[in-house]
Amino acid sequence: MLEIKNLHVKLEEEDKQILKGVDLSVEAGSVHAIMGPNGSGKSTLSYVLSGRDGYEVTEGSAALEGVDLLELEPEERAAAGLFLAFQYPVEIPGVGNMTFLRTAVNAQRKARGEEEMSATDFLKAVRARAKDLKIDAEMLKRPVNVGFSGGEKKRNEILQMAMLAPKMCILDETDSGLDVDAMKLVSDGVNALRDSGRGFLVITHYQRLLDHIKPDVVHIMADGRIVKSGGPELAIEVETNGYADILNEVA
Ligand code: ADP
Ligand code: MG
Ligand code: MG
Repeated sequence: MLEIKNLHVKLEEEDKQILKGVDLSVEAGSVHAIMGPNGSGKSTLSYVLSGRDGYEVTEGSAALEGVDLLELEPEERAAAGLFLAFQYPVEIPGVGNMTFLRTAVNAQRKARGEEEMSATDFLKAVRARAKDLKIDAEMLKRPVNVGFSGGEKKRNEILQMAMLAPKMCILDETDSGLDVDAMKLVSDGVNALRDSGRGFLVITHYQRLLDHIKPDVVHIMADGRIVKSGGPELAIEVETNGYADILNEVA
């Protein structure tokens, strides 16, 4: 589903190399987790995949179902099936949440040559998904993320993901700032989307999210590279011992 090879990325504005050769392959139907110390490049990886400005790929490749992502505009990447749930969701004053969702869903359909979703079908779908995530009708009417709590913003990211039904979902620290109940809601939302045709890349600091969203593979990222990969037990090792042992071992 997602194939990243030897990806090197530097900042456009500064001569600072952030990703130093990332290799990662996420198969359809699987959940991969990325853990790693602060500043290791996890968010940068998610930004570069989704097409954020300010980064320069100096070497390597990233493809979604064989399509070179790095050649595409952000909206083309989304239409191709990539989705990023932001670590820090952005507030968009003046744009209603519902309008935003509907515009996004229909823009994607249009890009794929599909018909627009009817207003009735859209309302039905958004209400059902919102109910699962305990997002009330009032939050759907407010401007995107404006005045939402940290947990509400993260749940709203999952609502977007559920509505867009992407092929490859990247979640950047969706668990940070969530209380136990919100974490359960978010995890249930993600698990409901698990499907043989869909891949997940879950970036997290904490093993506890991975108790709910059981990963197939866990990677440790440090200083712009994936330095170790393993099964779910790797996340437990990190939770118990921190990163120091692993980083010493690979050094
Ligand atoms: P993580 O998500 O793993 O905590 P990031 O990808 O956010 O790490 O950051 C990796 C490194 O790159 C950090 O040292 C960070 O300060 C730096 N960095 C990322 N984006 C920028 C930027 N736009 N300007 C300056 N430094 C940046
Ligand atoms: Mg980050
Ligand atoms: Mg651009």
